[in-house]
Amino acid sequence: MKKHNFSAGPCILPQEVLKKAAQSVIDLDGSGLSLIEISHRSEAFVSIMEKARHLVLELLDLEGKGYQALFLQGGASLEFLMVAYNLMENSAGYINTGTWSDKAIKEAALFGRVVEIASSKDENYNYIPKGYAVPEGLDYLHLTTNNTIFGTQFKKIPQTETVLVADMSSDIFSRSMDYSRFDLIYAGAQKNMGPAGTTLVVVKEEILGKVTRKIPSMLDYAVHIAKESMYNTPPVFAVYTSLLTLEWLKAQGGIEAIGEENEKKARLLYSEIDLNPLFKGYAQVEDRSMMNATFTLTEPALKETFDAAWKSAGISGLNGHRSVGGYRASMYNALPLESVGVLVDVMSDLERKA
Ligand SMILES: *Cc1c(COP(=O)(O)O)cnc(C)c1O
Repeated sequence: MKKHNFSAGPCILPQEVLKKAAQSVIDLDGSGLSLIEISHRSEAFVSIMEKARHLVLELLDLEGKGYQALFLQGGASLEFLMVAYNLMENSAGYINTGTWSDKAIKEAALFGRVVEIASSKDENYNYIPKGYAVPEGLDYLHLTTNNTIFGTQFKKIPQTETVLVADMSSDIFSRSMDYSRFDLIYAGAQKNMGPAGTTLVVVKEEILGKVTRKIPSMLDYAVHIAKESMYNTPPVFAVYTSLLTLEWLKAQGGIEAIGEENEKKARLLYSEIDLNPLFKGYAQVEDRSMMNATFTLTEPALKETFDAAWKSAGISGLNGHRSVGGYRASMYNALPLESVGVLVDVMSDLERKA
């Protein structure tokens, strides 16, 4: 039986995408060849790459606005350093919302001065810092729009004239917003777009070429743009499966429609967390994530009973990250509302029986 998959990543993808991706590994569109045994320079694959790059910009409403979409490798973790390599001449500002921003800061510090503009470390990252000023003269400001581990999410994007860079690994394509506020967006595919193995980078071309250091080709955004994201062999399966997911997203009505669906799912789960005395949310209410809901049991003695109940309801991937404990329900685009309903039923059953 298909599980209700609440995994934080790699995570759930639409069933129809998985079927078509699996089929393409045997035979790509009736060509008599597998997707993974054809040249990446073949017409078939070049067209896949073109479509995927184009669809990213179309869905984010960034067409004709000076942006390029790239499918790179090395995960979001390589972007932690590529961003600094390509953009940091002297100093950059970082807003620290926990684990992922911490790692981004550590890499950037190898290239220049990192100014930690604000941090929510004092409360183990259960909120998004607010009310800070962004100093002038920074090469860029970096934020993690959604913290996958702590379950916090920026609801308002800071107003700034500074070049704005965002790690959107766990909430890209999940909600409507003005994506043109950002100059560079990166995201590991495996949270809301596809399988592990490719990283999406969306970059406004005019911000490049401003640092004096020499950049190795594989780490140079300008090289990847010039080569249309095919400087070397791209991760063909990950790019193709991402394209299928993006096509699925477009067929659902795009980001606006999926955003409304995601709000419904989040509202359903958070209202149960708030009303059920056996559960307590981890993140502060105004900052909690629509993608990753973190919560704990108020009576730890019920852990065994609760764990057995959700497992027998066909739920998978609900354990919290070790740095937070408790539970984490990740509700990415492909997770149906019905799965959240199953979880909420298990939670309210626990209260009834307790
Ligand atoms: C998962 C995650 C990462 C790390 O991604 P990799 O592709 O494994 O390097 C970075 N940032 C955020 C916000 C994440 O959720």
